[in-house]
Amino acid sequence: MKLIPLAVACLSGSLVLGGCAAFTGSDTAGIQVATAFYPLEYVAQRVAGDLGTVQNLTAPGKEPHDLELTIRETAAVAGADLVVYESGFQPAVDAAVDQNSTGDVLDATDVVELEDYADGQVNPHFWQDPLRMAALGDAVAKHLADLDPDHADTYRTNAADLRSDLEDLDTAYADGLADCERTTIVVSHDAFGYLAKYGLDMAPIAGLSPDAEPTPADLAKLQDLIRSDGITTVFGERLVSPRLTQSLADDMGITAAVLDPLEGLTADDEDADYLSIMTDNLHALEKANGCS
Ligand SMILES: [Zn+2]
Repeated sequence: MKLIPLAVACLSGSLVLGGCAAFTGSDTAGIQVATAFYPLEYVAQRVAGDLGTVQNLTAPGKEPHDLELTIRETAAVAGADLVVYESGFQPAVDAAVDQNSTGDVLDATDVVELEDYADGQVNPHFWQDPLRMAALGDAVAKHLADLDPDHADTYRTNAADLRSDLEDLDTAYADGLADCERTTIVVSHDAFGYLAKYGLDMAPIAGLSPDAEPTPADLAKLQDLIRSDGITTVFGERLVSPRLTQSLADDMGITAAVLDPLEGLTADDEDADYLSIMTDNLHALEKANGCS
């Protein structure tokens, strides 16, 4: 019931710089950006720098798949000068962008090529590929430069700095995973498909979404694979229960470790960011697969 008045309030408000009154934290000056989930937030923060305010729609500790939006988060979509989201990944965000956004909109799928997945689906987890993240950063800079031409050079420089960090990360992955005893990794859900470019083969316990349950036949197949490939580690995530990964590791007498799909930070991640977590993931992969 309250969604309509908020949206109307935003429609009648200032749409370019400063956002509308319903935007949380609208006392801050500059561009107001709303992002759908953490990797998009990271890119927007890097490119906007201190010229704008970025609000993330997926709160820390929450899993972004099948996110439901609060009234406040819907208001953030309505009041943002720019919304950065990924269509097809979070239906509630798609609906809010359709119905409530009044500013500029950047759909990541328009600038990043998604890989095909089974049954005509695409794999949404493109942020595991640093070069796709760099492409998104360039696109965010273009949108911010259009919205705020006085600072266009700063946005372009920020995106170039981000691209440089991401290209270094891509090189670290390619080098770190070039010479390993094993290439297969057992992961909780199928969030790591974009790491195939580094020669990894993914064996997910669940499908594209972390709440999918494997069948007993799926688990039996994984156990065979763990035996035949000499797999040392089952990777779980931080934002979903480790029940399945821990029990599989226990049954097989191997290690359970964390490989963070970077779908969100937790509240105690103050010092962690996309680059540091991707680097931690790389070290976990090198250890599990015996890379030299
Ligand atoms: Zn996922």
